[in-house]
Amino acid sequence: MPATPTSLIAETLSLLDRFGVDKDRHLAGTLTSRSPVTGETLAARSPVTGETLTQVREAGAVEAAQVIDQAHQAFLQWRLVPAPRRGELLRLFGEVLRSHKAALGRLVSIEAGKIISEGLGEVQEMIDICDFAVGLSRQLHGLTIATERAEHRMMETWHPLGVTGIISAFNFPVAVWAWNAALALVAGNAVVWKPSEKTPLTALAVDALFARAMERFRADGGTAPEGLSGLLIGGRAVGEMLVDHRHVPLVSATGSTAMGRAVGPRLASRFARAILELGGNNAAIVAPTADLDLALRGIAFAAMGTAGQRCTSLRRLFIHDSLYDSFVPRLKQAYATVPVGNPLVESSLVGPLIDRQAFEAQQAALADAVAAGGVLSGGGRVESGFGPDAYYVRPALVEIAGQHGPVEKETFAPILYVMRYSDFDAALTQHNAVPQGLSSSIFTNDIREAETFLSVRGSDCGIANVNIGPSGAEIGGAFGGEKETGGGRESGSDAWKAYMRRATNTVNYGRTLPLAQGVRFDI
Ligand code: NAD
Repeated sequence: MPATPTSLIAETLSLLDRFGVDKDRHLAGTLTSRSPVTGETLAARSPVTGETLTQVREAGAVEAAQVIDQAHQAFLQWRLVPAPRRGELLRLFGEVLRSHKAALGRLVSIEAGKIISEGLGEVQEMIDICDFAVGLSRQLHGLTIATERAEHRMMETWHPLGVTGIISAFNFPVAVWAWNAALALVAGNAVVWKPSEKTPLTALAVDALFARAMERFRADGGTAPEGLSGLLIGGRAVGEMLVDHRHVPLVSATGSTAMGRAVGPRLASRFARAILELGGNNAAIVAPTADLDLALRGIAFAAMGTAGQRCTSLRRLFIHDSLYDSFVPRLKQAYATVPVGNPLVESSLVGPLIDRQAFEAQQAALADAVAAGGVLSGGGRVESGFGPDAYYVRPALVEIAGQHGPVEKETFAPILYVMRYSDFDAALTQHNAVPQGLSSSIFTNDIREAETFLSVRGSDCGIANVNIGPSGAEIGGAFGGEKETGGGRESGSDAWKAYMRRATNTVNYGRTLPLAQGVRFDI
């Protein structure tokens, strides 16, 4: 039974109340004289029905500068709080998230169009990174290094950077902020977030939930300065304010490669640091010894899940000649029957595209692929019962002979280009012959192929998997990719180092002053 527009608006507003979002302050529809509009407003819409849910107030230039300045002041205090105490704030935030998981997951589904389990999964990812950050808060360590000088000690110390700017994309409206904010905050930084203009409501919800964790932290005697976590609602222009502000020494920017091309040089021009998490064009190889049942499931989730709107979505598939004719029909069957529809209904596996622009990009890519000789299955619009502004499509599979035209680009929609191969090394070359380098997989039971794929002459991506698809990373590993994907790393492993600065310290505890490299300077 499809949710009606009215019920979705009412449900959204009641969810915002549940999170404690100050609707008078943030929603233009309910603005009062206490909260004058300094910026513009933007429409928060749901791709589920295509309707506008409410209008949200954008940050103006003055407000953006105030939020960033306040975050800088907060950083000056926060950096003095011992790291394990900073971890306690993240522990409390994890608790708040646990008790709001169902509601926040629901709002993610309403605003980003993710199916229910993926909406919940995104909130679980936030909880996971909070847990990780708590442990990390006692592990922010430097090395002690052997020195060539007698009675000296050389070591490194890690210090926070300042305000970390976070720019995020629509498709992970809450988890990307959490990956960055959890690490940045335990590292001793303040954060200012510019979420996607397509998902402002989930950002307001997270902001309100984080404020609750701050209150609990303060109630326990903790120092959590006002402005430690700032939020700037708006589009590109608001993002640019964050990118250009002198009190923002690091910006972690997640989005398209086009965005990274604009943001990267701008940050470099003032010697600020960037963590760039940009577009992917991810591939998988299905080799002769693959477990085909497992490969089918892995490919189906990676290529059709989230309606192909993950940076790690599978977009290119190389299938060995010996299996091609038997495996492709099975794949087509899965494509033809996967349930597409209202993501708020448990049985749906593929929800809507985010908006009309995404639908048009999908249709244009398919037309280009057919013009380039591709044979198309699926890809048409699916009638959802929600009217003209909700864009549901059947995932598309395109059999194509070579890797050219749209195959080399990331189209943020469920399109899988399927290619045949006979020689493993040639498939590897094709695999790496695109500008992007985010995620990759091989399905094989041949240990030589598997290890070669992971080796120096194998996949050139930041993520390389064996017998699982390219999407669905967990937070313990560092996340990010090479080439036009931007080179940034977030989340687990030692990604925390990007949010800190390293000082090398040498201490002389002797009574002489030997100089390094045997240099003499006797006065
Ligand atoms: P987008 O590039 O349109 O927008 C991303 C964010 O950047 C938004 O908040 C937007 O307002 C902001 N922005 C755009 N131009 C800007 C500029 N010049 N200065 C400052 N801010 C600017 O991306 P999208 O459509 O929201 O998301 C889809 C894209 O994101 C895909 O390419 C996808 O692969 C990528 N993505 C990458 C990762 C990753 O970790 N590599 C994760 C999620 C999404």
